[in-house]
Amino acid sequence: TPEWITHPVDQSKIYMTDLESALHYILHIEVGKFKDLEGERLTALKNFVSVLAKYYPGQPLVRNFLHTMDVWLRRQQRTSIPYVSLGMAMKSWREDVLLPRKSIWVGCQGSKPHFRGFPCSLWILFHSLTVQAAQRNEYLQKKADPQEVLQAIRGYVKFFFGCRECAKHFEQMAAASMDRVKSMDDAILWFWNRHNRVNARLAGTATEDPHFPKIQWPPKDLCDSCHNEIQGDPVWDLGATLKFFKSHFSLRNIVIDRKR
Ligand code: FAD
Repeated sequence: TPEWITHPVDQSKIYMTDLESALHYILHIEVGKFKDLEGERLTALKNFVSVLAKYYPGQPLVRNFLHTMDVWLRRQQRTSIPYVSLGMAMKSWREDVLLPRKSIWVGCQGSKPHFRGFPCSLWILFHSLTVQAAQRNEYLQKKADPQEVLQAIRGYVKFFFGCRECAKHFEQMAAASMDRVKSMDDAILWFWNRHNRVNARLAGTATEDPHFPKIQWPPKDLCDSCHNEIQGDPVWDLGATLKFFKSHFSLRNIVIDRKR
C-alpha cells in the first residue's frame, strides 16, 4: 500500500516542502527553459521575484536568498540576461543548499506521478502571496497595492507557466476582471473564486486525481462557517471565507518539517 494512503497528509495544513519545491521548480525548470531572459519576459521575472522577496512566507535564509535575487535582478543593466548567469548567481547565494535539489511533494502529492505536484503547489504559492501581502500590510499599517501582487502573478503565468493551456485560460480570467481589484482582501477573494472556477471546469476530467476530487473549496469540514444558505440555496459567506483564508494561508499554519 502506498505511503500516501497509509499516512494521508493533513489537508488543513500548508507544507513548507511544497512551497520550497515550487520555488525550486520555478527557478530551475520553468525559468531555466529560456536561454536568455529579455524583454517582457525579463520584466515579468523581475516583478515576480520582487513580490516573492516581499511576501514569500519562508524561513529567514530562503527569504534572504529571494531578497538577494531581487536586488541582483534590479541592478542588472543588461537588456538580456543569459539563464546561466542567473544560475551561477543563485549558486553563489547557496540556493542549492537552501532549497530542495528536486521537487518533493507533501500536501501536493498525487496518487500517481502525473497528478497534482507543481500546478498544485503554484496555486498554494499564489494564495499564500495574496494572504501574506494582506497581512503584512495590516501589521505595518500601510496599504499594499493589490495590483502589484496580482499583476506579478499574472506575468509569471503568462510568460513562464509551462502548462500553456492553463496560462491561456488564466489570462482570459485576468483580462476580464483583474484590473478592477482594489484591495488586498479582494485580491485574496479574486484568487479563491477563480481557482474554484478552474476546479468546476476540470471536475470529472482526466486531469482530476480520483483521490483528490475537484470540489468547490473550502469544504464544510475545513470551514463550516464559510457555507451559508439563503432560502435553501447554498451561498458562500464571504466574510467567513476571507477569515478562513487568512488563517489557512498564515505563517502559523505552515508545517516546516514533514514529521511523518
Ligand atoms: P489544485 O486545484 O491544484 O489545488 C491545490 C490545493 O489548493 C487543493 O488541494 C486545495 O487544498 C486547495 N484549493 C482548492 N481549491 C481552492 C480554492 N478555490 N482556493 C484556495 N485553495 C484551494 N489544469 C487544466 O487542466 N486546465 C487549466 O486550464 C488549468 N489552469 C490552471 C491555471 C493555473 C493558474 C494553475 C496554477 C493551474 C491550472 N491548472 C489547469 C491545473 C489545475 O488547476 C490543478 O492545479 C491540477 O489539476 C492539480 O489539482 P489538485 O487536485 O492538486 O488541486
